[in-house]
Amino acid sequence: MFGSGPARAPLGERRYARVAVERAIEGPGAGEGLTYECTGQTLEVGERVEVPLGRGDRATPGVVVRLGGSELLDGFDPERVKAVLRSHGGGLPGGLVELAQWIAQYYVCPLGTTLSTMTPAAVKKRVGARTRKVLVRNGSEVEAKLSAKARDAWKRISGLDDASFPIGARDLAARLELASVREVNALVRAGMLREVDEAHVRVFGNAASDLDTSSLAPGAAPEPTRMQRSVIDGIGATLGSFAAHVLLGVTGSGKTEVYLRLIRRVLDRGESAIVLVPEIALTPQASARFRGRFAGEGVAVLHSGLSASERHAEWERVRRGGARVVVGARSAVFAPCERVGLIVVDEEHDTSYKQDQAPRYHARDVAIKRAQLVGCPVVMGSATPSLESFANGISGRAGWSLWRLSERVGGGAMPRVRVVDMAREREALRAASTGGYESSIGPTLRGALARTLREGGQAILLLNRRGFATYLACRGKDCGWHLACDHCDARMVVHRDRTLPRGSMVKCHHCLAEKLVPTRCPVCGGGLMAQGAGTQRVEDELSSWLGPEFGLEVGREVLRLDSDAMRGAADYFAALDAFARGRARVLLGTQMIAKGLDFPGVRLVGVLSADTSLLMPDFRAVERTFQLVAQVAGRAGRASAGGEVIVQTYEPELPAIRHAARHDYEGFAREELAARRDAGLPPSTRMARIVVRDEDRERAWSRAREIHARLEGAGARGLTLTGPMDCVLARVADHFRVGIEIVAPSAASLVGTLSSLRSEAGVSSDAHTAIDVDPLSLL
Ligand code: ADP
Ligand code: ZN
Ligand code: ZN
Repeated sequence: MFGSGPARAPLGERRYARVAVERAIEGPGAGEGLTYECTGQTLEVGERVEVPLGRGDRATPGVVVRLGGSELLDGFDPERVKAVLRSHGGGLPGGLVELAQWIAQYYVCPLGTTLSTMTPAAVKKRVGARTRKVLVRNGSEVEAKLSAKARDAWKRISGLDDASFPIGARDLAARLELASVREVNALVRAGMLREVDEAHVRVFGNAASDLDTSSLAPGAAPEPTRMQRSVIDGIGATLGSFAAHVLLGVTGSGKTEVYLRLIRRVLDRGESAIVLVPEIALTPQASARFRGRFAGEGVAVLHSGLSASERHAEWERVRRGGARVVVGARSAVFAPCERVGLIVVDEEHDTSYKQDQAPRYHARDVAIKRAQLVGCPVVMGSATPSLESFANGISGRAGWSLWRLSERVGGGAMPRVRVVDMAREREALRAASTGGYESSIGPTLRGALARTLREGGQAILLLNRRGFATYLACRGKDCGWHLACDHCDARMVVHRDRTLPRGSMVKCHHCLAEKLVPTRCPVCGGGLMAQGAGTQRVEDELSSWLGPEFGLEVGREVLRLDSDAMRGAADYFAALDAFARGRARVLLGTQMIAKGLDFPGVRLVGVLSADTSLLMPDFRAVERTFQLVAQVAGRAGRASAGGEVIVQTYEPELPAIRHAARHDYEGFAREELAARRDAGLPPSTRMARIVVRDEDRERAWSRAREIHARLEGAGARGLTLTGPMDCVLARVADHFRVGIEIVAPSAASLVGTLSSLRSEAGVSSDAHTAIDVDPLSLL
């Protein structure tokens, strides 16, 4: 333990550290951290420490963000500055502290909260951490009273290279071929070797390697095609400095192979690579390709199936350079690699890259910033890039480029997409109703599915709505009652639960409240009906049809993939494995199945309703619809057998759907970009959203009005303010929500406005205020 005992160092020799404590502290200087004395301690920027805070000097964890002398005092009385209590050693590489400072400023979030987010909880809690005593060299003057043998040992120890240390006493003795640790201990007593604590992590459980991935084993590295080669060479030429590359490649065009080749080059330069993928795409399938290719350099795959101690161990392995390739979801952008040479953001359009609590960062944009700070390229790949990235890619802005892979590897054709107008199939859907519910699978899709199964093929069916039914309403024509959550302004979703007497319950997807299903309308006493099919309902429909006609059983040959059915990563991997082996024939799921999967046996992809996100009051609804349809369409016919895609919709003429059906990303993107420009919406402008939440509606409103007035007062040029207004979801979990939208002509003016709001009015993200810069959700 360190401390500022009575014998303090002379003023001029005292050393200080700025520490960002994990508690969300705002106010003057908070962005810089609080000042503590650390004279005599060997601290590094990024190191995790404990410092006394508040009344009672509670030991509080934090991260060192700056080190220095009296210049850090900033006028504080040096006699009153408290000392750092202890260090946990290790921590974030220095570069990540700078990244955290950028995030804290750009996303208007306390620095301590940001730094805390960067380190996995398992690392902070040191799950599985053990320390052992190891030795480092201390002095070089040979003590007179040492034995001849010890002197000889010291001579040889002096000859060892630095990389041999720290080393355990036994290992050192063995290395010197000594019969015992006697001489080593003598050198420790003489102060010539010094004992220090070294942390290592004991791993409990082994989730990562328990998963059977044998059906997914990667083959040898293929020779790149001409198109791949030119992209690899083009991007490869920018290694060693910052550049942002948008890689627009149709599904199956070999983007992953491009990443793998680039990573090879990065590793050959002695650097590390970070690959971000959406959590759901962290399949054994994807990991196996990286593990197989870079076994020698070590691959760390950070997925949600890891136990806490595994997560900690993997993180430590990355930090110490034991794994130079890191594959992981959003938070892997903070992987503690020392010399990052490339960052890949795969499926960069995926909305899971945006964190929905403070700091509300977008991992793609953080990746760009990290690449800028370390001076390396970032590659953003997708078959359907976000309009933000596409616009940047074609902008001609310095450092940005757009690359295209417009053909599938091996000349595989893009599948034919048939758009089915559901209005025309309505009668047939009614006629084919089962169990009192209208069917969700029209005759066209039904015919295609039957044909596919008869011919031995596999099918993927997408319905981006989980549960049994989206809501429960009164049958009475004039009543209009529907079941809403008691705590939210939202409908409750019907979920099947066979353990309950009525076989189902209702659940709120916002506050997770659950209730039994009522039997009668509480207003008029009429009967109730479940409306809007979800995946569970479709599962029933498939069961009553595919069972008798094809002998396919739900749960075996027909699998449902959504967050209700999949309790964890292991369930998900098992389902995909069954599908990869051909045991399962039909995969029914939410957008979980629209991502990054590559199954050659898939002949048919059916989109049960392309319209699920269209009804959202969100300017990105069309973009989402396009992405969903185009992505899932790409899952068909990846092998040369060709494939068929059927899209059911009530909006067959919608440009998003027509373009998706033609696999025409650029046609869609250019049209939609023009529309956004006309409407003054991102990416032609920048947006931020402030949501005030409070149990008291009036308090929420008055706080929002106050912030609005401040924003108006800040009066940045070209700023458009909307609100304050009740949010679309006006109440969630008994909290009223009032929103303000800010649209600014540029990122600089947006950040400037929010910074002055923060410094002058102290408005930052806290329990009552959510500041969301570049928001993806506007509900
Ligand atoms: P994407 O990431 O664009 O969807 P992938 O990199 O997964 O595409 O490639 C699709 C399939 O084609 C994979 O099975 C991959 O192994 C294979 N592939 C990629 N590049 C080549 C190549 N140059 N030669 C042969 N097969 C390739
Ligand atoms: Zn609710
Ligand atoms: Zn009623």
